[in-house]
Amino acid sequence: MPTEIRRSVCPYDCPDTCGLLVEVEDGRAMRVSGDPEHPFTRGTLCPKMLHYEKTAHSPLRLTTPLVRIGPKGKGEFRAATWNEAVAIIAARWREIISGYGAEAILPYSYAGTMGLVHRNCGHAFFHRLGASRLDRTICSPAKEAGWKAIMGDTPSPHPDEVAESDLVILWGINAAATNIHFLHGVRETRKRGAQVWLIDTYETPTAAAADRVILSRPGSDGALALGMMHVIAREGLIDKAFVEERIQGFAELAEQILPGYPPERVSAITGVPASVIEDMARCYARAQAPFIRLGSGLSRYGNGAMTVRTICALPALVGAYGKRGGGLLASTSTGAAFAMKEVTREDFMLRPTRIVNMNRLGHALTELSDPPVKSLYVYHSNPASVTPDQNAILRGLARNDLFTVVHDRFMTDTARWADVVLPACSSLETGDVYRAYGTYCIQRAWPAIPPVGESRSNWDTFAFLAEAMGFDEPYFSQTEEEIIEHLVAIPAPMRDGIDLARFEEGKGVELPLAPDAPRTFRTPSGKVEILNHREPEPLPRHLPTHEEEGNLPLMLMTAPTLYALNASFYEQDELRERQGGMRLMVNPVEAGTRGIGDGERVIACNERGKVEFTLAVTDRVPPGVAVAEGVWWSEHAPGDRTVNALTSQRLTDRGNGSTFYDTRIEVKKAR
Ligand code: SF4
Repeated sequence: MPTEIRRSVCPYDCPDTCGLLVEVEDGRAMRVSGDPEHPFTRGTLCPKMLHYEKTAHSPLRLTTPLVRIGPKGKGEFRAATWNEAVAIIAARWREIISGYGAEAILPYSYAGTMGLVHRNCGHAFFHRLGASRLDRTICSPAKEAGWKAIMGDTPSPHPDEVAESDLVILWGINAAATNIHFLHGVRETRKRGAQVWLIDTYETPTAAAADRVILSRPGSDGALALGMMHVIAREGLIDKAFVEERIQGFAELAEQILPGYPPERVSAITGVPASVIEDMARCYARAQAPFIRLGSGLSRYGNGAMTVRTICALPALVGAYGKRGGGLLASTSTGAAFAMKEVTREDFMLRPTRIVNMNRLGHALTELSDPPVKSLYVYHSNPASVTPDQNAILRGLARNDLFTVVHDRFMTDTARWADVVLPACSSLETGDVYRAYGTYCIQRAWPAIPPVGESRSNWDTFAFLAEAMGFDEPYFSQTEEEIIEHLVAIPAPMRDGIDLARFEEGKGVELPLAPDAPRTFRTPSGKVEILNHREPEPLPRHLPTHEEEGNLPLMLMTAPTLYALNASFYEQDELRERQGGMRLMVNPVEAGTRGIGDGERVIACNERGKVEFTLAVTDRVPPGVAVAEGVWWSEHAPGDRTVNALTSQRLTDRGNGSTFYDTRIEVKKAR
């Protein structure tokens, strides 16, 4: 059979949302490459997706339902039919509902697929069931809250505007791993003469694209922004016209807050020399159009939302929000592109049910009562690896009275603890609609290959479960194609004027963003609201992190890598090898004082757990910091735990977000 080329979309939780071309022969994906016609990603992919066919056709793919036959967690299963597996699930759920009520059932999912239908269709099923709801706040709700507090619903600038900037600040973003197409634009801008700075907690691979690297202590980025604003105000470098006409609360900031952040004090908080803070402030204020690309990691501390809010005040002082090529890109807000309520169906809930924060799954499984969680249904997520406080989660998953179902492509660390495992499709086997969050693009995809083995999509699995539970709403008897058609048929102002022909061909399509949309402030006052009385704290300031006074010496950065995305892609041997093993990076000074050396087996520990790593000694990491890149599967780890045995269930100041980076550890030689 001749090779056919089909379009698809990268489904992973990455801001770029690349367009793919899939070469298909006899129903098999033979090769995956970037779609040169995609308006933002333009034909290039990161190394993770260059061999997506190896993930789709991995020998590790689950191909039939499985039912547990051994003790919990041993990974001993027998094959079952879908009919049998679904009958077991339905029977157990009926029993649980009659004994404890449906809120004793907890769904758990996040962004294993970013496809709008398959990611969100489980909401409708669990709303209809009356199950507990999951507060899906593991990623960046504090970042959203920080932006909203000062910018309201203002959209971030288009990433291509960076071409018009003369100073680009990559603030807390390892774009070389997590936003490669934006970084490509930054490199082009730099070639034309723009300065590029990287502000981060350690020297990430993105440093190679920067003229200047500023290392700030973990959780201190808000203080750094305040120090820069102090200098800008003190030296009269503000944009007076912009400040007078378009900012609410500059006078209050200047009088009540900024005097408390002279460079010397900020230096003590951040570790950045006072002279550097002063120079940064002057260079920033003198730039014609300074552009900040803000990462998400700096929002994953106890002070995360306030940090983002404070950094977002900085461009206002110099009028950067009013200039093309200037301002701050936090995330592109494409949420209004589709009427998602048609997929999530909150109206199926008979009454508002209990909400469980996904970062506190360990607490939910071990301590929650009235009712206790008696069943956990996990889909396109792997909480035993990616969710904070791994030991608490594993204690919960080990409960013999917990009925756990996992729907996944692989035997993940979570699936090993399941009572029933269901085989899931990869994104190449399903249709869906995607919207990017690092640019203004949408794309529709159709299945490129048939399901591998007996795997089923989220949509088909929930339809099957709905039938088994006796749900007769027409919603559940639609096909995948019908729900997608329904979703794309509903008009949305954000999609007005898109190239429909391209969209229907499955090509990436730009959402038309009005040229001045990022410069038209959608706040109640119509101004940048540095002063916001709707917030518990009306003005930005530096808040301490949870671990500000912690007594362990090293702050742990659980950082991204180019070769994995959280716990995804560990099925590909080559990608694992390119990561060089599960390593903990520390500065030579920290290694020297502990008598541990490069390549040695070490144990990182705190009050929550102990994790073995291979030590990597490098001066890319400053003293006081340790870095663990990637979220490894335990089968490839040096010990029996992975990095989230060290992270905590504490939440952010706003948004109930995760605080992965607000973690202290000690490191010692493994015995
Ligand atoms: S992970 Fe990101 S950069 Fe890599 S292919 Fe997917 S969308 Fe593109």
